[in-house]
Amino acid sequence: MSDAPLLQIEDLCVTVGGEQILNGLSLTVNHGELHAVMGPNGSGKSTLSNALMGHPGYKVTSGAIRFKGADLVETGASPDERARMGMFLGFQYPTAIPGVTLRNFMRTAASAVRGEQVRVVRFRRQMLKAMESLRIDPSFMNRYLNDGFSGGEKKRVEILQMAMLEPRFAVLDETDSGLDIDALRVVSEGINRLRNPERGILLITHYQRILNHVVPDQVHILAEGRIVKSGDLDLARRLETEGYEGVLTEAGAATEVR
Ligand code: ADP
Ligand code: MG
Repeated sequence: MSDAPLLQIEDLCVTVGGEQILNGLSLTVNHGELHAVMGPNGSGKSTLSNALMGHPGYKVTSGAIRFKGADLVETGASPDERARMGMFLGFQYPTAIPGVTLRNFMRTAASAVRGEQVRVVRFRRQMLKAMESLRIDPSFMNRYLNDGFSGGEKKRVEILQMAMLEPRFAVLDETDSGLDIDALRVVSEGINRLRNPERGILLITHYQRILNHVVPDQVHILAEGRIVKSGDLDLARRLETEGYEGVLTEAGAATEVR
């Protein structure tokens, strides 16, 4: 079991609202690796992240999601159970939770994931330190989660969550969207600091620019519900110059953008 890849997705088929969106997607992320998944709008990137986390609206009709060797499809693990197993999902569109402060949200989430109450004073100290490195003002401790946060603040808070929860595997869905150059750099540095030999990261992105800061071990292109091409950073660079159309035509995939 310990020799198993960290995350192994095999022939995954997923339907949303009765429509098949993922159609035989396979992808393996080993311990310590960061993989980028790129794809045109509507290609199913967020569907993949939701299916990985066990969102009930995303029905896995066949295939396997093996996390540390255990097939989550077979066990039907709930999103909570997946989080306790060490999986983390950063959302493309984080929702606001008025009435719940960032401090309480983080503490509750960390206690739930760790299976024990976190020590309040130590946790606060850790959180302040992580906030400082992500250039988040300490006053955010007492702000309501994502309530009135700018796009860049939400994304930095997402990386803060990842830093505090210390997951084994993180899916970051469009963490770069809507960030200006400075915020992109802060968020990228935050992601790079969280890379370690144990942890796997799936960085889902539409644009290549974050990959100038966060260098992936592998780059995959998602189209037609599956991975149609894999490569290294050069593949992402080619996307920038040739566009999805050029690269996907060569891969023999349709380029329909929904
Ligand atoms: P991406 O993140 O690559 O832009 P998505 O995974 O969000 O793509 O969407 C893929 C396809 O699945 C789209 O056609 C989208 O309309 C559909 N889809 C995703 N989520 C839902 C949903 N909750 N209800 C209905 N259709 C959905
Ligand atoms: Mg998306």
